[in-house]
Amino acid sequence: MQFSELGLSAELLRAVGEQGYTTPTPVQQQAIPHILAGRDLEALAQTGTGKTAAFVLPILQRLTAAAASPLQKVTHTAPRVLVLVPTRELAAQVLESVRTYGAHTGLRSLAVFGGVGINPQIQTMRRGIDILVATPGRLLDHLGQRTVDLSKVQMLVLDEADRMFDMGFIRDIRRIIERLPKERQNLMFSATFAAEVRELAHTVLRNPAMVEV
Ligand code: AMP
Repeated sequence: MQFSELGLSAELLRAVGEQGYTTPTPVQQQAIPHILAGRDLEALAQTGTGKTAAFVLPILQRLTAAAASPLQKVTHTAPRVLVLVPTRELAAQVLESVRTYGAHTGLRSLAVFGGVGINPQIQTMRRGIDILVATPGRLLDHLGQRTVDLSKVQMLVLDEADRMFDMGFIRDIRRIIERLPKERQNLMFSATFAAEVRELAHTVLRNPAMVEV
């Protein structure tokens, strides 16, 4: 299978080509069509399988498709996509992927995580972003200070959900999810389907497509 068969736009295929990728990995082949179709998704995939591009590419596609009509030239300021990750390192990596694959889309993105100053994050958020990547603790800080607006979130990604549990973030995640619009697409990636991960999937995902690689 080729990337061009997945229904991705020219600007995304160009970015993929610039990375030198020739064929989509199994998780990309399986997950991308479901995400493009608007379905919730539960994916069992380890790091190194290409799972980041498996959610970033179709998310970028859905955001650009939503802005394609010239009549709809809305300036979005609040993020429409929230990606929750367990660590700063992963937040930085996911942000890099979003910017690499989204290089020709004009979409704006930001990662918020602890251990660095909060003010630059607030400044960038004020200028408007489309995709927010966040660790739970720092996102709750922003929510507490009312420096983030989650009322426009249409897509939620829980990346490395099993590590979120290992690191004790489950209550934080549930508090964050309570603040999101009810009508949204949910994607969950995990390296294991331990009982607690299944339980979270059960409460967050609606009729999910299942992918296992
Ligand atoms: P991930 O599993 O998301 O951490 O990705 C692992 C690595 O695979 C990253 O360095 C990506 O740049 C790379 N990668 C992702 N998709 C592809 C692909 N279709 N072909 C080749 N490399 C890829």
